[in-house]
Amino acid sequence: MHGLMQNAPLLLTNILSHALRSSPDQEIVTRLVEGGMHRYTYREAGERIAQLAHALTDMGIGVGDRVGVIGWNTHRQLELYYALAGIGAVCHTINPRLGPENAGYVLMHAQDKALFYDATFAPLAAGLAPHLPCIETYIELCPEGAMSANDLGALSYESMIAGKPTSYDWPELDENTACAMCYTSGTTGKPKGVLYSHRSLVLESIVSCLPTSLGCGPEDVCLPVVPMFHVNAWGIPYGALLLGMKLVLPGPGLDGANLHELLIKEKVTYALGVPTVWLGLLAYVESNNLDFGDLKYSLIGGSALSEKLIKGYDKYGVRCRQGWGMTEMSPLGTVNMEPAGFFDKPVDERVEFMMRQGPAVAFVDMRIISADGELLPHDGEAEGHLQVKGPWIIDTYYGMEQNALTKDGWFDTGDVAVIHPNGQMQITDRAKDVIKSGGEWISSIDIENAALNHPAVMQAAALGMHHPKWDERPMLVVELKPDAEADPEEIKTFVNGQLSKISAVDDVQVVDAIPLGATGKVLKTKLREIFKDYVLPTAAA
Ligand code: ADP
Repeated sequence: MHGLMQNAPLLLTNILSHALRSSPDQEIVTRLVEGGMHRYTYREAGERIAQLAHALTDMGIGVGDRVGVIGWNTHRQLELYYALAGIGAVCHTINPRLGPENAGYVLMHAQDKALFYDATFAPLAAGLAPHLPCIETYIELCPEGAMSANDLGALSYESMIAGKPTSYDWPELDENTACAMCYTSGTTGKPKGVLYSHRSLVLESIVSCLPTSLGCGPEDVCLPVVPMFHVNAWGIPYGALLLGMKLVLPGPGLDGANLHELLIKEKVTYALGVPTVWLGLLAYVESNNLDFGDLKYSLIGGSALSEKLIKGYDKYGVRCRQGWGMTEMSPLGTVNMEPAGFFDKPVDERVEFMMRQGPAVAFVDMRIISADGELLPHDGEAEGHLQVKGPWIIDTYYGMEQNALTKDGWFDTGDVAVIHPNGQMQITDRAKDVIKSGGEWISSIDIENAALNHPAVMQAAALGMHHPKWDERPMLVVELKPDAEADPEEIKTFVNGQLSKISAVDDVQVVDAIPLGATGKVLKTKLREIFKDYVLPTAAA
């Protein structure tokens, strides 16, 4: 027997109309690519989104068309998020750090019909253009006067929307209509397309706004440092408008000085980003004797949260909260929300809890599976392949016939994890990064976290290196803080003092810079290439 209620579709335009009704005067602030700051209200954003929707329709963009965007976090990209989805088209955000080969690949694979880009990426767009027969129109995200010189015949975004009507009669789409698209960043092979639907993103956004999920609210001032090309900036462009939060968009200014200035001037209380960003900002604040102003929480995800970050920020009264997810999960999987009274305890008693990725959010199911396909217990001990299920988790990659699921309908995340009896999930590694030594699995994350505790270490990566007896043994690669000096043997003693005998590293190598991937994560594939001929001293002996 079916219920007898209306079956209204769940659409992103409903988020927009709710925001315009309930918080029309709330602010969105952007550091502009062309210099200076831009600020406007939700109401004005709504008008420009409507203008953009008219311009897109006039350009011949319609239901199902994919449109590429290569840009920084700005109000213009936010407008594209809503206008494209609103007319039934697909906003395909592209990570500029993918490099020309992969960027060209994803644009062609998606068959994008138009490409919007920030001036910073004009050379990239110009270089790609001859290889992109699918693109009919290029649009630079700037006013006419700020256009880069180019042969693309590109339009200026501001001229394109100027004079268009400021309201739009949004179509009532089927809620399963595609609205956004993001390719995996290719750290594990060729990028694969993930195609989100209105329904999946609306549900993900609602759940991310629960007090037990991200835990931010209408009083917060939110700074998504996580780029809008990294899994929809973790849903903040939708969640912020649902909650009516002030949104601060950092544009191209992702260095310590620019971020710090925004935090202080805009009175940011809640910020989101990957650990590398927070490590950089912490180093900037410490070395310049500054503080974090009104910042209360930083939501950290994309890579594991370290003790160094937790304690480093705690000194300034900023609480780190960890989330875990992936492109294939829109991205929200877990948020490690603290129980009541948690922050009354001294930091040393909180670290263990905070280093876990947290319990699954509502509607996401998780299980761990052994190499033989056995279901493992949630006892905090058994380590297995993490699989997930839920309404905003991928079924099939774009353009593939076969779905991406196990026979019984779960998605294998490629992560290895334990699940604690209280439901908290803890990633021990990515399956391909686990160090396999004498039949045991060693967590590279544990080693990296131990290394980051060293005062001279800026960034760390642990690799499994070939060993004739043990198969693999861990080697630690570190990048030191600018101007810091440390002896590799001393780092090794320091790190191994925190690890079990089996996880103790055999060797420490200091490099000038640890390579980072397109989303600011350590690029282990590159490091493995660099050290491919290196033989561990313990293996040579
Ligand atoms: P890519 O796979 O190219 O890095 P994603 O952003 O989709 O792009 O990455 C998802 C992966 O990032 C997860 O499968 C997991 O390995 C890692 N990850 C995300 N959040 C965390 C976290 N809090 N702790 C540890 N690893 C994380």
